[in-house]
Formats: sequence, C-alpha cells, structure tokens
Amino acid sequence: MTRSRDVSRYSDQALQKLSDDLMAGKRRALSKALTLIESHAPSHRPAALKLISVLEKGQRAPALRLGISGAPGAGKSTLIEALGLFLLEQGHRVAVLAVDPSSRQSGGSLLGDKTRMEQLSCSDQAFVRPAPSGFSPDGVSLGGVAFRTRESILLCEAAGYDIVIVETVGVGQSEAAVADLTDLFLFVLSPGAGDDLQNMKKGVMEIPDCFVVNKADGALLPFARRAASDCRAALQLSGHRPSENAPSGRRSVLLCSALEKSGLDLLWQELQSLKQERLDLGAFEERRLQQRQRWFEEELRHQTMEKLFTKLDAAEPAVEKIRKAVLEGQLGPGQGAQELLELLWKE
Ligand code: GDP
Repeated sequence: MTRSRDVSRYSDQALQKLSDDLMAGKRRALSKALTLIESHAPSHRPAALKLISVLEKGQRAPALRLGISGAPGAGKSTLIEALGLFLLEQGHRVAVLAVDPSSRQSGGSLLGDKTRMEQLSCSDQAFVRPAPSGFSPDGVSLGGVAFRTRESILLCEAAGYDIVIVETVGVGQSEAAVADLTDLFLFVLSPGAGDDLQNMKKGVMEIPDCFVVNKADGALLPFARRAASDCRAALQLSGHRPSENAPSGRRSVLLCSALEKSGLDLLWQELQSLKQERLDLGAFEERRLQQRQRWFEEELRHQTMEKLFTKLDAAEPAVEKIRKAVLEGQLGPGQGAQELLELLWKE
C-alpha cells in the first residue's frame, strides 16, 4: 500500500489512479492529493505538477471560488459554517480551504488551532481543510501560500465541489492575495466595525466585492446597522470606482447573523447576482484569465529562483571565492553577483 508520505514514488499509473479516484469524488484521494501538493519536499513537486495537469485536462465545470476574509473574531468560521450548511441544503457541494497568512510571522496560527466548522466537516457533501502549518518553504509567506492554494482549489473542483470557499484572516496584506485566487471576495465585519474599517488600509476597501456585517442579532443589532451605514459611507468616500474585476463598481453592504442563520439567503442571492453580472459583462472569465496569467508568471519566477539556488549550492567553492573578493573590497557587491550569475549561466 502506498503511504501518503511516499508521494514522491508516484508512478504515472499511480498518479492516474489518484486522479481518477479524486474525480470520482473519493475524499481520501482528495486528502492524499492535497498532502502531495502541500508537501515542502522538492522531490514531490514533479508529481504534484503532473497531477494538476492531468486534472486540468479532465476538468469539470469550474466551481464558484469565494474568498472570505475579516478580522479575527468577526465570525468568519461561524458564518462559513452557516452559509456552507445553507448551500448544502440547496444541493451544492462545498469545500472550505483555510489560508493562514499569520503563522510564519507570529509563530502561531490565527486560523488553524481551534476546532472549527464541526457540523460542516461532518457532512458528506462538504470538505473542510485547515490551514497547513509552516506553509511557506520559500519564506515569501503569502506568495508561497497562494501557489498551493490555487492548486488546492483546482483539486477541490476536480473532486466535484461546486463552491470552494477560501478563508483568510484580514491582516492587511492578505486581502489582495485571496481576491486574486477567487471569483468573488467577501469581507466580514463585526458590529464594532469602526475599528475594522479604520484598520483597513487605503486601497483595501476597494478589494472586496461585498461586505457583510455579521452578528446582526439581539442587542448587537443596532450596532450592526450602524456599522453597515459606516461601511457604506466609507465606500462612498472611496468613490465606488469601477475596476477591471468589478466593472459596475457595485459593492454591496449586507447584514447577517451567522448564529441565528438570518440574512444568509440574501447574502447568497447577492453573490449569485454579482456573479451573473460579471458573467454578462465578460468580466468573470477575464478575471480568471488574468489570475491564470499571474499564476504562470509567479510559477516561472519561483521555479527559476529554485533552479538558480540549487545551482548556487552546487557551486559553493566559486561562491566562496567571489564572496571573499567582495568582502575584501576587490569586487563591488553588484559586480560580484553579476560574475557569479554569468558563471552559473555558462554551466
Ligand atoms: P472568526 O475568528 O472570525 O472565525 O470568528 P468565530 O466564527 O470564531 O466567532 C467569534 C465569536 O463570535 C464566537 O464567540 C462566535 O460564537 C461569535 N459569533 C459568530 N457569529 C455570530 C453571530 O452571528 N452573532 C453573535 N451574537 N455572535 C457570533
């Protein structure tokens, strides 16, 4: 039996079987495939890349990719669970991928370390994948995360999940990255959202396609209404500018309560209507095409760097010689780097 850790040993045949099982909707195959693409070991990458290509060829109708972000405590996981269960009732299959941009910087995880979405996880029609820990071998935390998340989304789609939710914590730099992985991007605010809005950096306000003020229930309701009107005012200030991704410039602000499961139908209607609007304008496909182009360019940059560093490691004596010359002032740092690259290039 192939153990999931032995993924580097996948033969073409084994990869084909994994892809067939995954496309037949077998959860174990999906978990195994996700483990393969999340692996940090360089020896696993060729199999992972091959798997992605095989799956893309047999691609089903693409899922709706929905990014959800918001400050810690805004109620993202409660909302995703409630919305996910609502969507299951409508006959959808829902996958949730958590992306944790914080783990590398803080050493702790904002998303991954609590038990989350228990009800959703239990359903046959749902798949919840927590953020993998230590997920960025290259140190470019968000960039590394984005690579693997793109691939994870494709795996979930191939396994028949027609709605893929990508969850992340809104920490300023993660919004743009997640918006770049998804078709629609939803930002969750809490009733005390004044602070959240203030903390949203200039420009970030324009990234979400839709805002939802959660916890619009009980004593929090008036505060939630207030937060929604503050948010509308902030959007007005930021000018509702149309962009390539949001050609009509429409950005709605809704209220919901994940706890009481209210407002979810309106939220879903709004998301569907946004999707339809984009489809009608051709902007939906355009956004995906641009994302694919960026994906290719990032892969190219990433793989070039990787190859180059492997060569650098192998050329240690030459590197040492040039480093010494730079430190002793015989060569300028720029010239030293240039000479080394020329040397590597010739090999
Ligand atoms: P996350 O950090 O954004 O994922 O937030 P959680 O989903 O973990 O929720 C944080 C807290 O807010 C928890 O105590 C939830 O029970 C609470 N919460 C989430 N949604 C609602 C809601 O709709 N109404 C109320 N009153 N509390 C909520």
